[in-house]
Amino acid sequence: MAWFEYRNGVLYAESVSLVRIAEEIGTPVYCYSNAALKANYKEFADAFGHRNILIAYSVKANANQAVITTFSDCGAGADVVSEGELQRALAAGIPGSRIVFSGVGKTQKELKAGLAAQVHQFNLESKAQLESLSEIAANQNVKARVAFRVNPDVDAKTHDKIATGRKADKFGVPIVEARGLYDLAGSLPGIEVVGVDLHIGSQLTDLEPFKDAFSRLAELVNALRRDGHDIRQIDLGGGLGVRYRDEEPPTALSYAGLVDKIFGGFGCQLIFEPGRALVANAGILLSQVIEIKHLSERRFVIIDAAMNDFLRPALYDAWHPIDPVCEAPVDAKREIVDIVGPVCESGDILGRGRAMSFLAPGDLVAIGAAGAYGAVMASNYNTRPLAAEVMVHGGEIAIVCPRLQLDELIGRDRLPQWLGKPTNPFDEHGAT
Ligand code: PLP
Repeated sequence: MAWFEYRNGVLYAESVSLVRIAEEIGTPVYCYSNAALKANYKEFADAFGHRNILIAYSVKANANQAVITTFSDCGAGADVVSEGELQRALAAGIPGSRIVFSGVGKTQKELKAGLAAQVHQFNLESKAQLESLSEIAANQNVKARVAFRVNPDVDAKTHDKIATGRKADKFGVPIVEARGLYDLAGSLPGIEVVGVDLHIGSQLTDLEPFKDAFSRLAELVNALRRDGHDIRQIDLGGGLGVRYRDEEPPTALSYAGLVDKIFGGFGCQLIFEPGRALVANAGILLSQVIEIKHLSERRFVIIDAAMNDFLRPALYDAWHPIDPVCEAPVDAKREIVDIVGPVCESGDILGRGRAMSFLAPGDLVAIGAAGAYGAVMASNYNTRPLAAEVMVHGGEIAIVCPRLQLDELIGRDRLPQWLGKPTNPFDEHGAT
């Protein structure tokens, strides 16, 4: 079932026309399909049947409360990497007992927040993190449940900036040093060793790197058990890829088959941290054409969404489908254009060299598969207010994050007293 499809030549999100969303909410606006989120979750969960698993949705992929709550209602836990994400997950009704706390650099404040929430598992990434956590927990007379995120030195064969399991990456502890760290962990007063963890990267389109990494992790679990550690939770991270263009990522079922083959006999709870696979195709970014600019060599379609709204094309050279909301006739003439935003950066290109039917100012376009690593990575660069976010459910539209207004944005700044001016003319309440 396509959650975004043309009906009578107009692109719909579930039963809501994107033209209506643009009219009622304005552009740029992220639009998520509630049905798509639930279907993606179900597909992942069904692939594992009734096995003892925890699907800890990776909040970083899309942190909107409506998205997290949708997954929470499906029974999901959460994978968080900051105190902010932890608070988001708790606020969405996910109890600490279903939260894993990942993150390469956790502050003392964050470790304390994780302890206060009694998270299911801290995924530790260094000896220093281990020692800090033990000290904080011991002072409170509690024990923190921990796993080490190990770096198996496996190339995920994905974009360089989202590969995380190679020796040179900053993440995890080298798998060859893990046994020593587990022994240390086992001797510390504030620590209870419960599991192992890895996450080798994102947007994996092949099972092979998973297989390599998981096999190394399985060997480690055996060694740790021989060393006397009670390993009962195995966290396999996220990373399952999605189709943006013509990729053929593994299905959830084939991924589950691999996991079963390697870890089926361990009698452990298996934890997964999927992000992209649950949200990418459940969202689009709706934008309006501002202007068409023909220069000698190229044709630019300037739209009102930009790299500050959607960073993936500029940051990762990511390719996303871009389609007109009002479908052109099949025999309509097409031209090759660059679809760009108005931000003052040459890299502000959302789609380069696209064959598009003629677009005119005021036309709407939808950037597809924008539900993951979209709104969460947005910024106010060029003092552009963050885009609004909406969720549709059948024929209903709900604003799940209103557009930030300019006065709110500028009103956050404060003028130092020595400038001798009102604290901030945009802040009607004055400085606080
Ligand atoms: N877990 C960790 C520790 C991550 O860093 C990430 C993302 O990079 C994820 C899970 C989610 O990955 P994905 O969105 O590829 O499933």
